[in-house]
Amino acid sequence: MKNIKDYDLNDLKEELVNIGEKPFRAEQIFKWLYQEKVKSFDEMTNLSLELREKLKQNYTFCNFNILKKQESKDGTIKYLFDVLDENAIETVLMSYHHGYSICVSSQIGCKMGCKFCASTGIDFVRNLSSGEIIEQLLAVEQDTGVKISNIVFMGIGEPLNNYNNVINSIRIMNNPKGLNIGARHISISTSGLVPGINRLANENIQCTLSISLHATNNEKRSSMMPINNAFPIEELMQACKDYIEKTHRRISFEYALAKDNNDNLEDAKELVKLLKGMNCHVNLIPINKIENGDFIKSSNENIMKFRDYLNDHGIVATIRRELGSDIDAACGQLRRTALNKH
Ligand code: SAH
Repeated sequence: MKNIKDYDLNDLKEELVNIGEKPFRAEQIFKWLYQEKVKSFDEMTNLSLELREKLKQNYTFCNFNILKKQESKDGTIKYLFDVLDENAIETVLMSYHHGYSICVSSQIGCKMGCKFCASTGIDFVRNLSSGEIIEQLLAVEQDTGVKISNIVFMGIGEPLNNYNNVINSIRIMNNPKGLNIGARHISISTSGLVPGINRLANENIQCTLSISLHATNNEKRSSMMPINNAFPIEELMQACKDYIEKTHRRISFEYALAKDNNDNLEDAKELVKLLKGMNCHVNLIPINKIENGDFIKSSNENIMKFRDYLNDHGIVATIRRELGSDIDAACGQLRRTALNKH
């Protein structure tokens, strides 16, 4: 059976017409799902009992169970959700002065194989559906009672490798009759899938695009991110330039600093050369140590030097505040954790 949260409003209208209902019922259902945030068809009290029964027969509701919840000293909460098929995914809620942000997973496992990331080394299982992406937000809001205002696709998985479901979930988030979260408050982060970036440029969605760059030449980038062998830096940068030209939107470049690997002034110089003249922003992330990982965090001093060099040479750069590292909820620390039901 299909999950009712997999549908954008227009598709839901079509679905309802197909089962002999009036399209405006879709708007009512959307309101129950995304504004009232109910957890069952029975709570949709302005629908007839008959329609509620029909919905139950045709669609699942997909409420995730919380398997585990860990709270960091800084208020960050990491959830392990049971996605109802023997699999589990992690989702993180972060609190900032401007509101609550959620870091959602887009796949169960990841195919990208980045050497510094904890989601690597676990088998890829499958894509999450749009409804499963949306459900992460709903389950966290239901559990905490907070209103989430920002969404980042920086959890487990490569969002552009699950393109259709991710875009469809953004339409549901974005829809004023859905979750009503402005696209500017939604960020997609990619390891650099060029065809996906090109497609996104034509999508007419105002979300923020983040590129996980992490290195400035092909040799170094390929040693950290195998995807660079398929889409080398030149192709990636061309796609970014085309994206900016088409969308007039600024791109964020993520750069995780690892000691003696990509954090010296030579690297900063190369980065300036690469990004000069582009409408962009650089997010510097102190790389997080993962189990069995080779990379070590740069010193604070080096990170600040790196930032200052970029800023002094016309590239806007900030250091990302790390949240949740004490509960393994910071960037790159999320992993698909197998369910153990026995
Ligand atoms: N697959 C997507 C989104 C998930 S990763 C992507 O690659 O962008 C989210 C961000 O965390 C990416 O910028 C990723 O490169 C970064 N990241 C992964 N492991 C990290 C680590 N150990 N320390 C710091 N950042 C890390």
